[in-house]
Amino acid sequence: MITVQQLSKSYSTTKGATIQALDGIDLHIDRGDIFGIIGFSGAGKSTLIRCLNRLEEPDTGSIIVGGQDIMLLKGKELRQARQKIGMIFQQFNLLDSRTVFGNVAFPLEVAGKSKAEIRDRVTDILELVQLSDKAGMYPSQLSGGQKQRVGIARALANDPDVLLSDEATSALDPETTHSILELMKDINRKLKLTIVLITHELDVLQHICNRMAVIEGGRIVETGTVDKFFIQP
Ligand code: ADP
Ligand code: ADP
Repeated sequence: MITVQQLSKSYSTTKGATIQALDGIDLHIDRGDIFGIIGFSGAGKSTLIRCLNRLEEPDTGSIIVGGQDIMLLKGKELRQARQKIGMIFQQFNLLDSRTVFGNVAFPLEVAGKSKAEIRDRVTDILELVQLSDKAGMYPSQLSGGQKQRVGIARALANDPDVLLSDEATSALDPETTHSILELMKDINRKLKLTIVLITHELDVLQHICNRMAVIEGGRIVETGTVDKFFIQP
């Protein structure tokens, strides 16, 4: 589903130094995987996942998603490819001026869907994430877990093939984390959605991932099944 080859990205600091955030990343993620990328702070996790939909612009490398090298796309083609890659964030990134319904409708409006299509789709997805009764509420009226459910619903609006999760449960308490991870498992199964997540928490990996990679200093240092890492012989 996703093949990353020789992906590199550096940042220039204000003091003129160069930071090699990603240094020749190779990664393969199969369709239907829940793939976890773990590493300490500063390892390059966030840069890597943001490169997968080109929120961050890599310096070199290729990123094949569903057979298409998204590094070669621009303009309308890139926007269309991005619609098939949903993303959720640690701080939810909801639009505070819009209701739950309005937040989930937003990507459908951008994609030019009709009012009737939007109404039906939003209704279905809010049911899937169990927020039907909150459609008219604003983000400020919701708990953290509910906000992340809205984030997930919005990410799923355009029926993506891939869901990227940037530390989606890091701001949540353990119980809420559990329910969000269960929801992610559920949509992985029901929608046959490939999930790529970054985390600094082993618990998260153990809970939902089948495959994982360890990133250190912008390089993948280990990759394999989660069982390989957690079941000792
Ligand atoms: P992680 O998500 O694992 O904490 P990041 O991808 O955020 O790691 O960061 C990787 C490295 O790149 C770190 O050394 C970080 O300080 C640096 N970095 C990240 N974003 C920027 C930026 N916008 N400008 C300069 N350096 C950055
Ligand atoms: P949780 O148990 O998920 O943490 P909360 O205890 O924060 O949720 O909220 C319980 C219920 O009250 C939820 O249904 C939530 O939507 C609602 N609620 C929370 N804060 C507000 C608010 N400021 N205004 C209206 N309803 C709220």
